[in-house]
Amino acid sequence: MTRHISGERKTAYYFGMGLMILGGILFASAFVTVAMSVGDLPSSQPSIESMAFRAFGGMALLIVGGIIRGIGARGLAGSGIVLDPEKARQELEPYLRMAGGMVKDALDEANVNPGGRPQKVVMIKCPTCGKLNEEDSKFCQECGKEI
Ligand SMILES: [Zn+2]
Repeated sequence: MTRHISGERKTAYYFGMGLMILGGILFASAFVTVAMSVGDLPSSQPSIESMAFRAFGGMALLIVGGIIRGIGARGLAGSGIVLDPEKARQELEPYLRMAGGMVKDALDEANVNPGGRPQKVVMIKCPTCGKLNEEDSKFCQECGKEI
């Protein structure tokens, strides 16, 4: 089983990302132009067609770029374009491991330890009745006296 993402997929990933950035700039430029042309002479205002072209063109680039980037990340079979479950599993493997690693990182960050032994709970004994209470409790669960 291949454990590495192929060069073509990396290229597709970055190509898609580039398209998305380009699309984002194109999309934003349609609005920036409008903002900058406020107060200008009417003749210098960009045509609606050019604006619409940039807004829709930018949006299309964003979508296409996103799809290509997804294919690069998951592979053709992995993203469901080629129906081949076995290949999909292979192609998704590095991607899922990456996602799993990120989840693990997030859990580490939150100080959660999945599958590990539960952390030792410190209990304190009630001075009045002797009932064991959780460390941070202020009052006894049994008799209600302050601890
Ligand atoms: Zn008590």
